[in-house]
Amino acid sequence: MKSLKGKPVFDRIDKWTKRHREILLKAGIMPKLGVIRVGRREDDLSYEKSLIRKCEKLGIALEVFEFEKDVLESDFLKGVTAVNMDPLVHGILMFRPLPEQIDYEKVLSRFKQEKDIDGMLPENLGHVLTGNSVGFAPCTSEAVFEILKYYDLPLEGANVAVVNNSNVVGKPLAMMLTNAFATATVCHHKTKELKDVMKSSDVIISAVGKAKMFGKSHITDNQYVIDVGINMDDQGKLCGDIDFDEVRDVSAGITPVPGGVGGVTTSILLRNVVRASFRALELRSNTTSHSTICKTEDSTRKMEAS
Ligand code: NAP
Repeated sequence: MKSLKGKPVFDRIDKWTKRHREILLKAGIMPKLGVIRVGRREDDLSYEKSLIRKCEKLGIALEVFEFEKDVLESDFLKGVTAVNMDPLVHGILMFRPLPEQIDYEKVLSRFKQEKDIDGMLPENLGHVLTGNSVGFAPCTSEAVFEILKYYDLPLEGANVAVVNNSNVVGKPLAMMLTNAFATATVCHHKTKELKDVMKSSDVIISAVGKAKMFGKSHITDNQYVIDVGINMDDQGKLCGDIDFDEVRDVSAGITPVPGGVGGVTTSILLRNVVRASFRALELRSNTTSHSTICKTEDSTRKMEAS
């Protein structure tokens, strides 16, 4: 069994990010991530902490825009608009779900497409659908796809079971897989004979969010498994949706939790900050050499394709 670790994947992404950050600095731009957080949910704070550490490592600026849990919708909308209008913020991550008093659609209407680096807007999801590299895909789905590409898992003609039907993971992934000529089956809690769908697939991608939900009876030999789930087991230890110990000798390869998809997702997000900064530079500057930007964008695409 091959362990499909996230580290070599994100090391390669981070290398690209650092190199392109240098180009931006030379052009007078410091790439900056804006993080919008409402309240103090533990998992948001923990992800925020890891983002701060990673931004320090890569030399990317980060500012947290914090709102009280009971913030009025009108005040929150004003805040979101201000962050979107801030020329020093190039990409925005907004923690979700938002509290009940805030209408998510209204919030999205305040977002600029070029700052939506986690692919929340329909415009960005539309670009995923068409398979061009103009928009930003949701980072988790892109992280899964990067892992598949890095480990050179054969996708053309492969049957892939995606156990998640959200806009953040399952649906965009299905589009990416389809564009790579895989046959994706998107599963959810109403899927009939889920076990059979999983067992008859070449690749399984699970993002259910239930600790060790799938074991030996769901996986067969020679399958690759990407475990997106981040859960706590009975002993309070981090684990995925897949019972790793049970399937380690059965599957052909599996991503560990921790150490798999999570770190790659963070790196994708910061790569997107740099990509968004290049777009801002392109829009802002007539004096900057256009060819430099094009070259950089070209290499982004090449890297994304490699
Ligand atoms: P979510 O929106 O609740 O999605 C869960 C998905 O699982 C839904 O599509 C749901 O289908 C499906 N599901 C639930 N029970 C099922 C069942 N018994 N059989 C088949 N499908 C079932 O959760 P999420 O935000 O996508 O997160 C899912 C997991 O991924 C969580 O553990 C989260 O921590 C993790 N995550 C990891 C990363 C990362 O970077 N590694 C990023 C984001 C999320 P229905 O819609 O039909 O209920």
